[in-house]
Amino acid sequence: MRRARARFPDSCEVAVLGGGLAGMATAARLQAAGVSTLVVEAHGHVGGCAGYYRRRGFSFDVGATTMVDFEPGGVGAELLDRIGMDPVPGEALPGYVGWLPDRTVTLHRDAGAWHRERLRALGDTPCHRAFWSHLDHLAEVFWDASRAGIRLPMRRPADAVRNLRVLGPRGLPLARHMNTTLGDALARHGLRGDAPLVGLLSMLVEDTVHSTVDRAPLINAALGVTIRGAGLTRAHGGMRGFWRRFVAHYRAMGGRIHTACRAERVIGRDGAFEVHTGRGVVHARQVVSALPADTTARIVPGLASRLKPYLDRDAAELGGAIAVFLGVPEDEVAGQEFTHHQLMHDYGRPLGDGNNMFVSVSAPGDTDSAPPGHRAVMISTHTGLSGWTGLSADAYEARKREIGERLVGLARRVHPSLGERALVWDVGTPRSYERFAFRPRGAVGGPHQSPGNANQNAIPHSLGVPGLWLAGDSTWPGLGTVACALGSRIVADDVLRAARRTGARR
Ligand SMILES: Cc1cc2nc3c(=O)[nH]c(=O)nc-3n(C[C@H](O)[C@H](O)[C@H](O)COP(=O)(O)OP(=O)(O)OC[C@H]3O[C@@H](n4cnc5c(N)ncnc54)[C@H](O)[C@@H]3O)c2cc1C
Repeated sequence: MRRARARFPDSCEVAVLGGGLAGMATAARLQAAGVSTLVVEAHGHVGGCAGYYRRRGFSFDVGATTMVDFEPGGVGAELLDRIGMDPVPGEALPGYVGWLPDRTVTLHRDAGAWHRERLRALGDTPCHRAFWSHLDHLAEVFWDASRAGIRLPMRRPADAVRNLRVLGPRGLPLARHMNTTLGDALARHGLRGDAPLVGLLSMLVEDTVHSTVDRAPLINAALGVTIRGAGLTRAHGGMRGFWRRFVAHYRAMGGRIHTACRAERVIGRDGAFEVHTGRGVVHARQVVSALPADTTARIVPGLASRLKPYLDRDAAELGGAIAVFLGVPEDEVAGQEFTHHQLMHDYGRPLGDGNNMFVSVSAPGDTDSAPPGHRAVMISTHTGLSGWTGLSADAYEARKREIGERLVGLARRVHPSLGERALVWDVGTPRSYERFAFRPRGAVGGPHQSPGNANQNAIPHSLGVPGLWLAGDSTWPGLGTVACALGSRIVADDVLRAARRTGARR
């Protein structure tokens, strides 16, 4: 399909800044509801931290490899339903394997199999059973509430009324856990010192809540620990496969995307905003910024002072990621039942820089991800940002090479000859996320979550400036494809309500 060349000045009802998952989901919802939208995206194509790049016939996911809760009834599926898009074909993961220093635990998607496996691998005492039952109960109630459209932080009486309804009498008493942590729950069950259990939970909450067991809010942790039960899917062709379909659908609805178009300044007022980009001005009645919050504060003066207290509070809570992208002959990843693995190597060392890493392999037969007879492999781990700043070019290259080799070496616990005959061997660092996904300092995933900055204390989707909205993983509920899909629902509903109000006034 040939696309019309972008002409400036341009106009639309709602300009969406940033074509990551949050921005694209919000734009598609609005477009499906009959509101004209235009996405302004700095990179050459959409996706952001859930994006992709291609090399030598391989398609690699730059960040997110698995879509969470995009199966029927899920938060992601609600997004696709709302915009009238068919589910994206892909591999629905039956689970994945957790490799702890002294044992493996298969994290089955099937609830019964997972219940048996966790007792087998991690201990079957009354304390373990009571702990898991508590976590399961929280997860069940809050997954249901997420799918029913719970809204946080509550800013208006209507939010509270809605939340009372979606939580219902069964869930309401659980809201008291809003200020407790996963560590508190472990301690209450006498399990805080249980190394394998704490090790596994640490890996799961670091990946989903960007936090540690002692700081992760209990409810968020319960959701994070159970994401595979909600359904993990790797699209055929990876994130590229997902975006090809999503973008085609959005455009077919009349949505427009200006790529390679960086938003530089947003001025004006409700009903008459100007988005100044590197290529020209876009006029819009409302603006959704689906950019990292610090970028929003920099380019939207109307929001800067309102965002400052949140940004100051969270300045020390940011983190980065390393990713290794391998294109390998199929036999290098043969012999494993599961395509996804999560590894920890040392209970005593902090997580990150390889000690907690995720290995994701494209599905057999997925020739959109890798040429026939080959597979795309993505390995990722968390890292601090300070170790990547201020390095000379040589020091940076050396550090990048060392971490790449270390991660592949550690992944050989799963696939012993991984990377020996790699056709592609690339390493992404915080500098890569800064350069290609425009994340300031390369910080990804929003702040490390704790009761002090999550849920009711998270950055809200509106800071009280009419016509200006915030979406994305620095706002509630945080990082991940499911979180961005949920946040986009709140923002799109609010934008539509505002559009109807101003439409009625005109
Ligand atoms: C290594 C890694 C692995 C992950 N794995 C998973 C996973 O398996 N499953 C999962 O659910 N989640 C995963 N995540 C998290 C998930 O990818 C992110 O939370 C999510 O994609 C964030 O989407 P977003 O739209 O909020 O932000 P972004 O993806 O950062 O999107 C923002 C967009 O804005 C653009 N932009 C920035 N500045 C400007 C500007 N000035 N003007 C115009 N455009 C601009 C960027 O190019 C980008 O496209 C992972 C993240 C990482 C880093």
